[in-house]
Amino acid sequence: MSAIHLRNLVKKFGDFTALKTMDLEIPDGEFMALLGPSGCGKSTTMNMIAGMEEPTSGKILFGERDMAGVPMGRRGVGFVFQNYAIFTHMSVRQNLAYGPSMRGAGKAEIDRRVGAIAEMLQLSPLLDRKADRLSVNILQRVAIGRSAIMEPAIFLLDEPLSNVDAAFRAVMRTELKQLQRQFRQTMVYVTHDQLEAMTMADRIAVMDHGVLQQVGTPLEVYNNPANVFVARFIGAPGMNLIKGKPAASDRGLVIDLGPLGVTPPLPDELASAVRAVRGDVLYGFRPEQVGLAERGLSMPVTFVERIGARTIVHLGEGESAVKAVFENDVGLSIGQTAVVAPPASSVRVFDAATGLAVKAG
Ligand code: ATP
Repeated sequence: MSAIHLRNLVKKFGDFTALKTMDLEIPDGEFMALLGPSGCGKSTTMNMIAGMEEPTSGKILFGERDMAGVPMGRRGVGFVFQNYAIFTHMSVRQNLAYGPSMRGAGKAEIDRRVGAIAEMLQLSPLLDRKADRLSVNILQRVAIGRSAIMEPAIFLLDEPLSNVDAAFRAVMRTELKQLQRQFRQTMVYVTHDQLEAMTMADRIAVMDHGVLQQVGTPLEVYNNPANVFVARFIGAPGMNLIKGKPAASDRGLVIDLGPLGVTPPLPDELASAVRAVRGDVLYGFRPEQVGLAERGLSMPVTFVERIGARTIVHLGEGESAVKAVFENDVGLSIGQTAVVAPPASSVRVFDAATGLAVKAG
């Protein structure tokens, strides 16, 4: 079995706690991304799964098997790092063949496997090239091939695309996903790039400051962030959050956003959950879900970014600044006033004191 279970996993370096009590279940064959900003503990978690670091406390199990004290070489994991680790004095073919030949595979078997993996990673025309003549992009592809050819039940990739150029990264995202679909390994993929996590992973574990913040499918973490950190971190730009106070009105529960006025009434199920919050809340909505409206939040346009067909309009200032993303040119310019409104179903509310999402129903 190649499911991975992390139970109460803690890692300390001296007095510093890099990972605080992580519990994570990665089922057999799942593509799990560990996503978070620099220093949040992603690589530390990965290194413990690989066997390069011992946990301070807690357990790592592969299926039923406790990995405590099992060295990296006996864990059956493939590992690809940010910096390709390949033999530059060897050809691509020799690099790919290295693992199977160390395991004592016969020539015919090695040729078959090298041919198949080279085909999959578009390395066939380069098989007899010396590695030291290849670009960084291709070298990373060889490094992935060198691990993948061993058909590990667990494949660990730590920021494998961060040194390759943007166009190649887009190609590799698709190829890595196809590779995992074909081999059905359990894949753990460390990245700080949400686009990589969102496009490839079955589920994403979002981390910050050594704490697991949320685990869910890409759509779950995008649509229903568990807290303010996830709301801001996921999405480009992140979720808009404006501080306000719940207030009763004759139309239902609204949020008083101070100088911006009051919001439209919250949907019933969300309203009853918000009534239970003592103190301020954060009114949240995604920039992509904002539309121009007759009635809504009236805000000055402070900046307009045009990125191809997409337009990001910056509205308001200070704590109540928000962004709105439009898939076309909306004809707004700096100094104009825009009236924007998120659809009621896309509104999310967070407890300002705890940062936690207020869950409807
Ligand atoms: P990055 O993408 O920058 O590598 P990360 O999320 O992978 O970020 P980690 O490398 O896991 O983060 O590091 C988490 C924290 O633990 C960081 O503050 C880092 O400085 C610290 N850390 C990691 N390894 C050690 C070590 N061997 N000794 C001391 N502190 C360490």
